[in-house]
Amino acid sequence: MTAAPSPLAAPPILEPLPVTALKGVGPKLADRLCRLGIRTVEDVLLHLPLRYQDRTRVTPLGQLRPGEEAQIEADLVSSEVTARGRRFLLCHLADGTGTLTLRFFHFSPAQEQLFGRPGARLRCFGEARQGYAGLEMIHPECRRLGPDAPPVDDRLTPVYPATAGLQQFTLRGLVEQALAHLDAATLLPELLPAEWRTRLQFPSIAEAVALLHRPPAKVALADLDSGRHPARRRLAFEELLAHQLSLRRLRARIQRQAAPPLAGQGGLSQRFLERLPFALTLAQQRVLAEIGADLAQPRPMLRLLQGDVGSGKTVVAAAAALRAVEIGAQAALMAPTELLAEQHYRNFRAWLEPLGIEVAWLTGRLTGKARQTLLERLAAGAIHIAVGTHALFQEAVAFAELALAIVDEQHRFGVHQRLALREKGRAGGRCPHQLIMTATPIPRTLAMSAYADLDTSTLDELPPGRQPVRTVVVPDRRRAEVIERIRQACRAGRQAYWVCPLIEESEVLQGQAAAVTVEQLTALLPELRIGLAHGRLAAAAREAAMTAFKAGELDLLVATTVIEVGVDVANASLMIIENAERLGLAQLHQLRGRVGRGAAQSSCVLLYRPPLSQIAYSRLAVLRECNDGFEIARRDLELRGPGEVLGTRQTGEQTLRVADLLRDQDLLNAVRHVADGLLRDHPDRVEPLIRRWIGAGAHYGEV
Ligand code: ADP
Ligand code: MG
Repeated sequence: MTAAPSPLAAPPILEPLPVTALKGVGPKLADRLCRLGIRTVEDVLLHLPLRYQDRTRVTPLGQLRPGEEAQIEADLVSSEVTARGRRFLLCHLADGTGTLTLRFFHFSPAQEQLFGRPGARLRCFGEARQGYAGLEMIHPECRRLGPDAPPVDDRLTPVYPATAGLQQFTLRGLVEQALAHLDAATLLPELLPAEWRTRLQFPSIAEAVALLHRPPAKVALADLDSGRHPARRRLAFEELLAHQLSLRRLRARIQRQAAPPLAGQGGLSQRFLERLPFALTLAQQRVLAEIGADLAQPRPMLRLLQGDVGSGKTVVAAAAALRAVEIGAQAALMAPTELLAEQHYRNFRAWLEPLGIEVAWLTGRLTGKARQTLLERLAAGAIHIAVGTHALFQEAVAFAELALAIVDEQHRFGVHQRLALREKGRAGGRCPHQLIMTATPIPRTLAMSAYADLDTSTLDELPPGRQPVRTVVVPDRRRAEVIERIRQACRAGRQAYWVCPLIEESEVLQGQAAAVTVEQLTALLPELRIGLAHGRLAAAAREAAMTAFKAGELDLLVATTVIEVGVDVANASLMIIENAERLGLAQLHQLRGRVGRGAAQSSCVLLYRPPLSQIAYSRLAVLRECNDGFEIARRDLELRGPGEVLGTRQTGEQTLRVADLLRDQDLLNAVRHVADGLLRDHPDRVEPLIRRWIGAGAHYGEV
């Protein structure tokens, strides 16, 4: 007996139809499509318009507004080719309600002919703008209307994201072909359970895709453009769901593996904490207890530690590492820069060597025999804690038993590196526990989606005695005052940073800019000891400058944003940030977090180069008014988008195709519920959803 397919039965996973199955797509076009991320016919359907043009109506000339795109029909009254300076063609049109001039800077003899006949009726589409003598359109699309003029379009015209050598009409043609497959129901089977579609009032996927590619004239253009149309929301939802599922599946797979339970008495970390010159904050104690409970389990911990800059994450990391050492296993700490790795190394050594613990710094600079020896000791288990950059996770590095991997300042690493880390130490079938620490607090909704594979602990309290950094926003022309301020701070025995951020994309030029600043400041502040640290400097020189600054042998450190994360010098109480208007809020907050680490009142001067727009100024003002990293991250999210806050913009990580984490954040709760439901009730839909949206590149599913 063959039962009718149940409506909830999983659709079979069809082999994806390559885009070359469409007529007219040869290797060359396929290559160009690939640049847009289009490999299959489904991808064509999911390549949604950026915006639409409305050619369904004819706007009377009297109703044209500057700045608006419109379709018009009018009679050609006269035309002229002007030859003053550059040649251009002007055509004067009228329709009884108003007049319009068309302006062409390039034109063919055929066009000159077309426009040379007063009385012709023309249909044009373009953007109206205010010209010298009334409204104009520059280079509109034009056609001559004969006696049997075709009707206006009955659908909005999609405009697709394109790439060099790929025209709109090519894309429109391919989409039309792909839609025929959709109409025949051979592509994009429905994967969202019906009960959720009803509850969220979403159209089916086929309806949504068809509507977005061929919106009927009655659909409000504003809804489509703002991304609030239910059809677009439905696709955004599904995409977010696919990402959520992919991370959750990854989590489930990791947690099925065995991890060494770190269930000692905790005596070692107790001794460490007792020797510290301060007591842990309540938040640190709570977080450490959360971590401890996870570590005692026989399956890998997957935990994100969030905390504002200066909240004391490093101590928590060290105490956690000792839980591994205590049972005779190892821990690794990975930092995003050599500078930061080195600082952690120094901290850990100062804290832990008195307890008889071996800490090693694995730097990319270590070569030859020294490196060999270190690797051997690591593999033999003679080293308890290894600190380094991603060099820690190269092939050649083997641990005797890595029980805990800690990643500091996560947002500088991409998902790939997070995964490489997970791979490490899996030898012998055991997987290390993982603690990820963020540099920048991440708003809850964002964390829910970008870190769906992790549990979260939050340090929501700063160590006592910290005074908020006083921040001022000052135009460049008041530099002399700022320099005076440095003089005074240093005379009082304090230290200062001068940050020259990314004006140029290239590190070389940045380094040069910093070097020039050092010269200028040395001339103006001859009595001060001034050092330089930037990414291009030979490591030894940079290291020497940092060490000298830390030891109080330098008064002023001029640096690029290499000092952004983690650097910790308590006596530094003044920070100047040049060209502050070029940096994101979260990044500025992070930089500013380099001061205010001791008991002294600290200040941060944000120097900007006028003129500054009102928006740019109010952005900087946020920092003046607010010292709370979570609040600043929330504002940054609104102002600069998730790529900035999550750091994916810098790492060039895969981005979302349809969804927008900011615009669609109200969907994220439902996304999580539906993900739960699918994993529980429809596990067979998980794979097709991930394949549809993340495709063969679903590296985070394969781990
Ligand atoms: P972040 O969370 O930004 O990484 P750090 O771990 O660098 O912060 O800590 C900032 C500074 O605060 C360090 O000098 C650290 O020793 C100090 N610190 C950490 N915890 C406490 C505490 N409970 N009381 C006082 N100072 C602390
Ligand atoms: Mg830190």
